[in-house]
Amino acid sequence: MHDDTNTLSGQRLSQARRVVIKIGSALLVDQSSGALHREWLEALCTDVVALREQGKEVILVSSGAVALGARRLEIDVRRSRLPDHQAAAAVGQIQLAHAYEEVLGQFGFTAAQVLLTLDDSESRPRYLNAVNTLFTLLKLGVIPVVNENDTVATQELRYGDNDRLAARVAQMISADCLILLSDVDGLYTADPQTNPDARYIPEVTALTDDYWAMAGGPGSDLASGGMRTKLDAARIALDAGCQMLITSGHIMRPLQALEAGARATWFLPDSTPRAARKQWIAGTLQPKGRLKVDAGAVEALSGGRSLLPAGVTGVEGSFVRGDAVSLLDPHGNELGRGLIAYAADEARAIIGQQSAAIPEILGYRGRDEMIHRDDLVLVRQRPGTST
Ligand code: GLU
Repeated sequence: MHDDTNTLSGQRLSQARRVVIKIGSALLVDQSSGALHREWLEALCTDVVALREQGKEVILVSSGAVALGARRLEIDVRRSRLPDHQAAAAVGQIQLAHAYEEVLGQFGFTAAQVLLTLDDSESRPRYLNAVNTLFTLLKLGVIPVVNENDTVATQELRYGDNDRLAARVAQMISADCLILLSDVDGLYTADPQTNPDARYIPEVTALTDDYWAMAGGPGSDLASGGMRTKLDAARIALDAGCQMLITSGHIMRPLQALEAGARATWFLPDSTPRAARKQWIAGTLQPKGRLKVDAGAVEALSGGRSLLPAGVTGVEGSFVRGDAVSLLDPHGNELGRGLIAYAADEARAIIGQQSAAIPEILGYRGRDEMIHRDDLVLVRQRPGTST
């Protein structure tokens, strides 16, 4: 813990390149009337635009659909069942998306609505499609506004809270900073509203059991995320090498306030998103297939290049796009592991060929690389130090 954490916030934020901001329902929707806080959203978007002007990529994860829809439908979501909840989300999501589209539009930015379910982050092909869409939106300069696809999520298969969803989004796109704008301004040893001895925790570097013991129940009526879901989110973020912070959104321009030293709790990973991803590729996946590569490819890979189809001499196993495969050198030794950009039958069809020939062989334009260098870890490379 450091006492000067709040002055470090501005510095940490200024170094971040790709930022995910989670906006809780209680900030965006008035708790008693159920109306959208338009002025607050405008102020927040002023901050978002300021981050964009500093050259950062920004993804918003916004709650509020259920709260807005519930107001319109006059449903009390606290007492309703899942279908009512879903109906409220279906109605409210239109309003929510419209508000972002309008407000970001005032600043000359285009908003994109991205609705995800737990399935989308757990099933490999859907995960990859979601990742590709998010990256494409960022490349096009669009600001994605993500929410859970509440209308199709089932009771068992849903995030249910946007804290964890936001952390998964941060992990999916290798964000380096996740900001949870919340109705609390940080993590405390106990609930500060009920316990005068509650102490503020400025910085967390490891999620020890003590923190889980401290996490109390949910805070406000409209938000489903209490401290527990925030710690769940922190675990996902830290494993992905992404720093996370909790700060209060109950002020106008909360990000500007953060830069000026407003209170926050920072969760600091011991790795970077890139190193964490490489670690994951190297260590935790069961390879689904094997690619044999020629001597030229061995040299190119050792020099930090991607694996092109031209350098592959054989394909074994059955795998889909995005699966982990191991790479064998001409002597049959494992050279490394990577996430392959093609399914097994497609890979078999394009090996030994120039990348320019891929569209003609497969009938569509896939990636030039069979395994991109970012998706590749060589055996002799230590993931924490790879470039
Ligand atoms: N997806 C829900 C909504 O938009 C919010 C979940 C949450 O509050 O975390 O209303």
